[in-house]
Amino acid sequence: MGRKIEGLYYRGKIVFCDICKKSCRPLSLTDEYCEEVLGFDPMEYMTMKDSWGYFSENPNRDTEVHKCVMCQPCYEKVKGFIESLGGKINISNYLL
Ligand SMILES: [Zn+2]
Repeated sequence: MGRKIEGLYYRGKIVFCDICKKSCRPLSLTDEYCEEVLGFDPMEYMTMKDSWGYFSENPNRDTEVHKCVMCQPCYEKVKGFIESLGGKINISNYLL
């Protein structure tokens, strides 16, 4: 039996969103499905991580490592923000 968090038993690594602080288990998956069919709680999340070098625009950032884990609903908001700035997320399919 895994650890009990928020009334649910989780097996394996639990990942929490750094934005909304909720578990990164997809909302569409019920407790029963995870427990009885899958036997575990799948986590779906995006990790944004990189480190700043010595020539960063803001010298205070030099050598800092920044990391943010986000659940899919929060990722969709971040993606929308990037696109609102005129940016683009490069999307591919790892099965292709
Ligand atoms: Zn979130």
